[in-house]
Amino acid sequence: PSKPPLLQLRGFSVAYGPVEALHQVDLDVHEGEIVTVIGPNGAGKTTLLNAAMGLLRSSGTLAVDGQVVPRVSVERMVAHQVALVPEKRELFGEMSVEDNLLLGGFARWRRGDRTQRARMEEVFAIFPRLRERRAQMAATLSGGERQMLAIGRALMARPRLLMLDEPSLGLAPLIVREVLHTVARLRELGVSVLLIEQNARAALQIADRGYVLEMGAVALHGPAEDLLHDRRIIDTYLGVG
Ligand code: ATP
Repeated sequence: PSKPPLLQLRGFSVAYGPVEALHQVDLDVHEGEIVTVIGPNGAGKTTLLNAAMGLLRSSGTLAVDGQVVPRVSVERMVAHQVALVPEKRELFGEMSVEDNLLLGGFARWRRGDRTQRARMEEVFAIFPRLRERRAQMAATLSGGERQMLAIGRALMARPRLLMLDEPSLGLAPLIVREVLHTVARLRELGVSVLLIEQNARAALQIADRGYVLEMGAVALHGPAEDLLHDRRIIDTYLGVG
């Protein structure tokens, strides 16, 4: 018998009052996978991540390692080692890169514990730029560096699944590539990724599988490689270039 998915959503729906924003979504993230969800503005991508993290009330089922999580809450998802980097990165601007990272691991802090330092070294191995700037105030980092710090901070808690909400938002195209390239390297830390992106091409290039969300429902899903060559996806989401 094959291993159940790390994260599995079945018939997953979310409503804002009378308005259904997410409709019966089925989605899997297997251990070691990078899965991306692409789709236009307002398709429900942010809603999907926030509900999967327990920030919004949902219906349907969410399972971790094949075990259904009842009444999905942030506390339960954190206990299952799921982390979310929201679209607003919300760093502590007046604190150094290093202190921002240490705060991310705070929940796992033990007195006399050296594992946080070791973890920081692992994060620095993925983001050498953060090592160079470890003493610099977060507020003075570039947009790309701030995004890397937000991801690095979430990694400090040693998540098994990292959910990223549009890490490329507001970044120049070259920096988008750099940030997504580092997301691809999270595999080295044994972290699985659920990545929400508007930048469909760049996201599909680093992902194993992709889902296309349209008006709150999954319109299409499959191996990222297939989606990159799908005529409909090319015409609607990839454009020229
Ligand atoms: P974007 O990329 O623009 O953030 P998205 O795909 O992430 O889009 P969501 O932000 O999840 O889309 O929004 C999905 C739908 O739900 C939209 O129609 C949006 O207007 C609506 N919506 C989002 N948040 C709320 C809210 N708090 N109350 C009511 N409706 C909301």
